[in-house]
Amino acid sequence: MSFKVQLTAQLQANKLPHAILLHGPIGSGKTALAHWLTSVLACHQPEFNGAEINACQHCKACLLIKSQTYPDHLTLMSHGASLGVDDIRHANSFLEKTAQLGGYKTVLIPDAQAMTIAAANALLKTLEEPSKNSLLILMVRDMDMLLPTIISRCHVLSIRSVVGKALLEKLGSQALAHGDTLKSEENFYNLTHLAELTDSEVYQDYIEFRQQYIAFLHGQTSEHNLLQQALQTPHAIRWLEKITCNLLRQAQWPQNDKQTDTAEINLSIEVFNQLYKVIIKHTKVIKSYTQSNEQFVVEQLLMALNDIVKSSTRR
Ligand SMILES: [Zn+2]
Repeated sequence: MSFKVQLTAQLQANKLPHAILLHGPIGSGKTALAHWLTSVLACHQPEFNGAEINACQHCKACLLIKSQTYPDHLTLMSHGASLGVDDIRHANSFLEKTAQLGGYKTVLIPDAQAMTIAAANALLKTLEEPSKNSLLILMVRDMDMLLPTIISRCHVLSIRSVVGKALLEKLGSQALAHGDTLKSEENFYNLTHLAELTDSEVYQDYIEFRQQYIAFLHGQTSEHNLLQQALQTPHAIRWLEKITCNLLRQAQWPQNDKQTDTAEINLSIEVFNQLYKVIIKHTKVIKSYTQSNEQFVVEQLLMALNDIVKSSTRR
């Protein structure tokens, strides 16, 4: 089910969450989805198109949104700096006031990872005691940059762009040149309900696994150590795919990610491409054979990753 259909149903049932966390890489359509939702909530005569609701584009609210003067929405921009306590307090008091046009109050924080710890703690209060008819939308590229306490209080929508599904072919054709953001509003894939997003123990495993994998890419830990950790989790291959996909994204758009891990990993985009391809290949092997021995596939995959990392550092 697409996110728009899912959110439309929640809206109709009057069950829209008070806080939504949109998680996904650059170009995955987070912004488009956030704008769609805030304009639908603002619109006085939203229209139905099948199971999907859309803003009418011509009522008073829609016109105010177009001219960026809609009074009941606030976009909290970080402008490359961090978001501090005062920024969050401003958003909190904005949400507490009654809507001028009588509908929803919405706040969008496009760079949620820019919040300082103090700011995140200030936000927690709002998340715990949301005002009526208010919606807070946070956007983040990398869940690891948010406090777990924030994540657990939000309804998480994890978006994947065409990358996961079709990057392989794209990479083959070298279509992923710099700046190709693969933007498409229709390419929302629902990855919500992943164990690491809902279970704090699995989340901790994920963080440790990620550290180990990054250390492995640095050449600071052995394939054997990574394998030991990989065999302890049923999510190893999916996590390898997810982390590598994020690293590849960061390597491609370093100007957009100030706090990157790739800055320290001395591997080229081409090497990340190779790693990603080999992970996808093994993911397909796992999925195509019901009888496949998962441990064997994980071992084979790590050997292949090791070969790539080793040969890249030899050059
Ligand atoms: Zn309208």
